[in-house]
Amino acid sequence: MIEYQLSFSREHQINKLADNTDFELLVIGGGVVGAAALEMASNSGIKTLLVEKNDFSSGASSRSTKLLHGGIRYLPQMQFGLVRESLQEQKKLEELIGGLYKPLNLLAPIFKDDGFADLPKIFQNNFIAPKAFKAGLSFYDFLGLRNKEKRHISISKEEINKNFPLLKKENLSKGFLFNDAQTDDAKLVLTILRNAVEINKSLAVNYLEVIDIKNNIDNFTVTLIDKIYNEKYLITTKKIIAATGVHTLPKEYKFKSSKMRFSGGAHIVLKGDPLGLNNKGVLLPKTEDKRIMFVLPWLNNTIVGTTDTEDFSGTLDNPFANKKDIEYLVRHVKKYFSINNVDYISSWSGVRALIGKDSTSSKNVSRGHYVNNIDKNFIQVAGGKLTGFRSIAKESLESLFNKSFEMKKLEFIDDLIKIQDEYQSDELETCIRHYSVAKPLDYMLRRTHLSWFNEEGGKASLNAISEHFSNKNSILEETLNELRAEGLTEINN
Ligand SMILES: Cc1cc2nc3c(=O)[nH]c(=O)nc-3n(C[C@H](O)[C@H](O)[C@H](O)COP(=O)(O)OP(=O)(O)OC[C@H]3O[C@@H](n4cnc5c(N)ncnc54)[C@H](O)[C@@H]3O)c2cc1C
Repeated sequence: MIEYQLSFSREHQINKLADNTDFELLVIGGGVVGAAALEMASNSGIKTLLVEKNDFSSGASSRSTKLLHGGIRYLPQMQFGLVRESLQEQKKLEELIGGLYKPLNLLAPIFKDDGFADLPKIFQNNFIAPKAFKAGLSFYDFLGLRNKEKRHISISKEEINKNFPLLKKENLSKGFLFNDAQTDDAKLVLTILRNAVEINKSLAVNYLEVIDIKNNIDNFTVTLIDKIYNEKYLITTKKIIAATGVHTLPKEYKFKSSKMRFSGGAHIVLKGDPLGLNNKGVLLPKTEDKRIMFVLPWLNNTIVGTTDTEDFSGTLDNPFANKKDIEYLVRHVKKYFSINNVDYISSWSGVRALIGKDSTSSKNVSRGHYVNNIDKNFIQVAGGKLTGFRSIAKESLESLFNKSFEMKKLEFIDDLIKIQDEYQSDELETCIRHYSVAKPLDYMLRRTHLSWFNEEGGKASLNAISEHFSNKNSILEETLNELRAEGLTEINN
């Protein structure tokens, strides 16, 4: 057998696959849950292959609000178990993911007659709302077993005006500062995968789609299609975890796949700190359709977003923020901040899977995940939150192998976190060799955030970036189409 140099480049990974076709475990889906499952399985010496039909993290795992949080808003929905579990995970992730864990201070301002969208109606009253909110935050701190420095504090209107000079003063009565954390979801996935591949010697291939699964009783035969070279591969595996997010499984497993509802969410990116956040986030208490919205600092820029829309534009692979989504976000920024023009530079949209069919509004369906035994030795996991990825992956593995698993502390080799958001030739080469970049947009959206943090989806760098790929001309055209599909550029050439 040929010994390949250990590298998480796509070329090495696909070559290795040609020589290795028999696995103990196949993980379908290269989002955050699949990546963690691969890392933990390979820690235990299980011969595992992970396949992702598009780029790693291109699903919900690069399109989230980036919060590692308990989800304060789930308290009024009485989802105490979910909040407690997420807060425990938050602590665990602080130990495990190094610089990808960033503590974040958030302001919850209280405005007269606004209340807080998720509070039951009787608590919306001007007198009760601040007290109910304070009680909720105290309970949040309690569930998170937080020490004194990490607990919320009350903050007066004057202090809010000083710290958030652009937040509107009319009707503002007071506020609370509480602690949560944020991450870089895409870089988290890629870092976990590199640890699993280059340190634990497992295999992970992007642009490799599962198109058929046959159950042979003692193992499965799985057909894979390489979407870059249009080649088919047949592998066998003893067990399967499908961490496929909003997607159903192919062919005969389509009807065995979990029944899920979709929930969308759109975000816009503002360059720099035009809302004067000074590295703190703001939870806007009530949108016109009674949701909450986040305004957050993120990597020296500002993101504004909301979730829980019933519909989304584009496809499940490529959802995008449409004009209405963007106007909605801009309108609410103007409602709460003294700013005339909201100059957003880009936007994104994501879709997550919600489990549960009974509710009429996706806003109230549980964020809890579930692990579905769809066949012997074959489970599908769906739902949940970015914050819970480790425990979701752990639970999936433990139910399949009947033993315990754990995630190792991440090692940061050629630290992806430090890779810039403007094109740099040497960084792109590192990303091709060690972070499986197969197409320009992998680098522009998920290894860097060049397309989100630069005008027109970073189109100005596209020529130089394309030089690093064969078939430069066709790749240019293809990338422009992909940027358009993401709603990042409208210009045709
Ligand atoms: C708008 C929005 C905001 C959010 N904000 C937060 C937040 O702030 N905090 C938080 O904790 N959570 C948040 N979430 C939830 C979080 O993003 C998701 O729970 C998490 O990313 C799900 O990860 P996953 O690995 O299960 O799914 P995904 O990341 O969607 O990965 C599934 C992958 O499976 C692949 N796949 C599917 N079928 C196949 C196949 N046949 N062959 C190969 N590959 C396949 C897909 O291409 C996809 O990449 C948010 C979600 C959304 C949509």
